Amino acid sequence: MTKSYNSFGMIDRHQRAAISVEQARDIFVRQSFEPGGFLAFGNGKSYGDSCHNDAGTLVDMRGSEQLIEFDVKTGRLTAQAGMMLSTIIEIGAKHSYFLPVTPGTRFVTLGGAIANDVHGKNHHRRGTFGCHVERFELLRSDGSILVCSPEVNAQCFKATIGGLGLTGIILAATIRLMKVGSLDVVERIHPFKNLEEYFSLAVQTDIENEYAVAWVDQLASGANVGRGILISGSHADNGNFAVSKKVGKLNIPFDLPVSALNYPSLKLFNAAYYNLKGRQQRSHHSGYQSFFYPLDQVLNWNRLYGRSGLFQHQSVLPDEAARSVIPMMLEATREAGQSSFLTVLKRFGDITSPGILSFPQAGYTLTVDFPNRSARTLNLLAELDRMTIANGGRVNPYKDQRMEAEVFKAGFPRWEELEKERDPAFSSNFWRRTALAGAM
Ligand SMILES: Cc1cc2nc3c(=O)[nH]c(=O)nc-3n(C[C@H](O)[C@H](O)[C@H](O)COP(=O)(O)OP(=O)(O)OC[C@H]3O[C@@H](n4cnc5c(N)ncnc54)[C@H](O)[C@@H]3O)c2cc1C
Repeated sequence: MTKSYNSFGMIDRHQRAAISVEQARDIFVRQSFEPGGFLAFGNGKSYGDSCHNDAGTLVDMRGSEQLIEFDVKTGRLTAQAGMMLSTIIEIGAKHSYFLPVTPGTRFVTLGGAIANDVHGKNHHRRGTFGCHVERFELLRSDGSILVCSPEVNAQCFKATIGGLGLTGIILAATIRLMKVGSLDVVERIHPFKNLEEYFSLAVQTDIENEYAVAWVDQLASGANVGRGILISGSHADNGNFAVSKKVGKLNIPFDLPVSALNYPSLKLFNAAYYNLKGRQQRSHHSGYQSFFYPLDQVLNWNRLYGRSGLFQHQSVLPDEAARSVIPMMLEATREAGQSSFLTVLKRFGDITSPGILSFPQAGYTLTVDFPNRSARTLNLLAELDRMTIANGGRVNPYKDQRMEAEVFKAGFPRWEELEKERDPAFSSNFWRRTALAGAM
């Protein structure tokens, strides 16, 4: 198999190869390893280098996508780990189920969702994806298959959820889907004038809604600084369970030579979005695709960032710190003259993730993304790292391509527990660059 295995940020692009799960299993049984180790590759929707292992071999999971069992009474679904969340939605919808937790794209594999312990707009109610995993089978490099659950091989279970693919290959997993009144969402729109107003609304909005997320107009200036739209909602009753297989009607067919997302175009886009969205009816029905996956409507939208790719920075800060530090972080991006296309704020609740290295912690998470403008962008990202760590927060590893080892270790002091459970024949660019920096 020789094809492209870029990650979503497309920073470190080059031709990579991968083997199939069957080939990996065969190598493990024969114990005929090449140096450099292995790493499962889901669908490459991680932004940085946590899904790459350039010193060794990637194992492509995408051919491994069979449904094994679905209990329509309980919503318990068992599938091979390469199954896409989009397929799980289709299967569940026929029996009034939906994913209990979904990230902002449905083109993510089941194994990738577990290995990154992804979160959605309902963290305050359902925690992370890993909270809904009952068991999985893990292929280890000694050729054995470990069954892991909260009761059996419990430490390996905790290390694999959010374990960035380092404990082995998840072959199949059982998750519990969530019963819903329909796939549609009754969406509520609440424009806010500044971040203070957002913070005053966020807790109550979470109490009243299954989902909540805020978009911030990062380029607004003067009296409009910090304005944005708080979008919340809950599944509609007696609604629609029709699943559309159509993917985005728009496609960016090739890499633009430079980013189309420059300051003037973004300022215009943001102002237009604020005004249009802000004028929508305060409460209306929204289809699940437009509510959960608006970015899936435009295929290859990451190409808008140009050939140099994009960096996404996602931080989480404890509640009190967030109220003062997040405005300062947004001020720092403005001062650096960098325009973030997507600036998103979300409150995380206090449901503990099962994973040792899961990213969410109680507080507020800020996501910004920037076209790669080399040192200029890297300096700003390093400053955002410093502000995060100095205030008790952490930076998301699966959105990252460049954080320093110290930043990672300060945010995830339990990283050594994962290192103990890591399969010695598994590694990644990210792990070598951060956890193992200086040890090699
Ligand atoms: C538009 C967009 C929106 C997003 N929104 C969110 C969001 O709201 N919340 C959120 O949390 N994330 C979000 N993400 C990130 C994305 O959901 C995660 O990075 C996801 O885990 C990617 O899954 P993947 O299948 O593409 O796996 P990859 O990116 O290919 O791999 C992810 C990790 O999983 C490991 N892995 C993959 N398969 C297996 C397996 N079978 N066994 C063991 N390890 C495995 C890999 O080694 C790697 O470490 C978003 C990404 C995009 C592009």
